[in-house]
Amino acid sequence: MTSTLRIVIVGGGSAGWMCAAACAQVLPPHRYSITLIESDEIGTVGVGEATLPALKDFNDLLGIDESEFMRETHGTFKLGIEFRDWDRRGQHYIHPFGSFGQLWGGVEFQHHWMRARERGLNPAPLEEYCGAIAACRRNAFDFPDTRSIRSTFYGYAYHFDAGLYAGFLRTWAIARGVQRIEGQVVGVAVNGESGNVETLTFKSGETLTGDFFVDCSGFRSLLLGEKLQVPWEDWSEWLPCDRAWAVPCERSADFTPFTRSIAQKGGWIWRIPLQHRTGNGHVFSTRFISEDEARATLLGQLDAPAQIEPRMLRFRAGRRAQAWRKNCVALGLASGFLEPLESTSLFLIQKAVQDMLRLIPAPESRGSDARLTREFNRQSDALYERIRDFLILHYVANRRVGEPLWDHVRSYPLPESLTHKLALFGSRGHVPYFKDGFFSRDSWLAVLFGQGLMPRTYDRLAEFMAVDQLAEKLRDLHECVATHAADMPTHAQLIARFCGQPPRSRAVST
Ligand SMILES: Cc1cc2nc3c(=O)[nH]c(=O)nc-3n(C[C@H](O)[C@H](O)[C@H](O)COP(=O)(O)OP(=O)(O)OC[C@H]3O[C@@H](n4cnc5c(N)ncnc54)[C@H](O)[C@@H]3O)c2cc1C
Repeated sequence: MTSTLRIVIVGGGSAGWMCAAACAQVLPPHRYSITLIESDEIGTVGVGEATLPALKDFNDLLGIDESEFMRETHGTFKLGIEFRDWDRRGQHYIHPFGSFGQLWGGVEFQHHWMRARERGLNPAPLEEYCGAIAACRRNAFDFPDTRSIRSTFYGYAYHFDAGLYAGFLRTWAIARGVQRIEGQVVGVAVNGESGNVETLTFKSGETLTGDFFVDCSGFRSLLLGEKLQVPWEDWSEWLPCDRAWAVPCERSADFTPFTRSIAQKGGWIWRIPLQHRTGNGHVFSTRFISEDEARATLLGQLDAPAQIEPRMLRFRAGRRAQAWRKNCVALGLASGFLEPLESTSLFLIQKAVQDMLRLIPAPESRGSDARLTREFNRQSDALYERIRDFLILHYVANRRVGEPLWDHVRSYPLPESLTHKLALFGSRGHVPYFKDGFFSRDSWLAVLFGQGLMPRTYDRLAEFMAVDQLAEKLRDLHECVATHAADMPTHAQLIARFCGQPPRSRAVST
């Protein structure tokens, strides 16, 4: 007789429903049953509107129709993030989802560009060799055309209403056999011998037994943190922001295909354009600014009237020391949190769901296998640490002298891994490159150059090219990028064509 592994997911936020949907899509139903518990009384965090390009892969994995998804979630397209005032006031740059130039002779583009500067060729600013940035600067968007070599320069992500996305996935997953239970978990029982989570008790007194548990209970981390006592690693010494005010306002005329992040005295403000409204938030550190001042700062910078009262969210930067212990894996806020500066949370959920599905124990093992757990935790650790270093880079490379938050983040001791990356860039212009996962070469280039850092010299290998040839190739590439962007429709035109006319502004949850 074949056995069935009973998977129990605790939590119905984005993490819970992303996990449930992916499980329903790839696990054979006669071998795995999937139950999700959510509590209307507790609710979800309800933010998380900006994403990374990998989310398209996740939707593709589920076979979701892109235009239906965009309509249902009031989504827009995202080619990157514009950072304003991060280096110093008045300065801005874009972190694109696309490459800067091309590899010539196997040598990364930044070396050719730096060499051209050094040789007096007067190349255009680096960002003008990036297709995604050129499109952002024109508020333009089009799908990469895989048949044209010119269009392989960029990818894209989405902005959407987080509550609508979780609802969309919920409908999708339930239609494919996920069982949903509404109820509040008040007790978690562990097997005295194996240490595995075994039974959940609800407020109603009912119980539910499972073999494999996924903790998607949000910041509280009900199973992994509270019950299994996996310690919290605090990273607030590097990422001191601990609060955010969030508020939607009416949609403005400035319908950008990018998220905007504007540095402030005590943190930074996000601006996310959706079809029917603009999402705004002020992430800040209470060490450097009061809650009231942060709220007033946010309301003072909205493009249009706020639709509801701002809502405050509290958090700490860090993660659980292990994301998977025994027969319990934590996803989303239950496993860790890094501020939304680079929209990484939903990506971390997606990656963890995919890794979990690659490594999920066979039903016969009744939910735990130490080797698989170790591998999952190794991958999760590496990803968290890379993202942490990348986020710190935004803070540390600033020239906002005389402002307490910015002076503080410029002067604290860095993680060793980041010190190494900065030294490598400073001496030769080399940046990290990973086969999978974020953040890699072009992202680092965008932020390093964007925040005014310049290496002492470039890679010697770039010397192979004759200077005349270099000048000509730079001219051609520059023209190609500009022409391509000029041919694109505006973001608003493309959305109207793809999704139908954007709905009129209306109040929604945030
Ligand atoms: C200010 C801010 C801005 C953000 N912006 C972005 C962004 O732009 N992009 C991005 O990718 N991410 C962003 N995030 C992160 C993103 O919101 C979360 O990663 C995502 O929503 C997943 O949340 P979750 O599902 O882990 O938790 P939650 O949404 O908190 O869901 C927890 C679930 O557990 C349930 N639950 C809890 N306790 C119990 C219990 N005892 N019994 C039963 N059910 C229970 C709740 O009812 C709920 O359904 C942001 C986060 C914050 C704080």
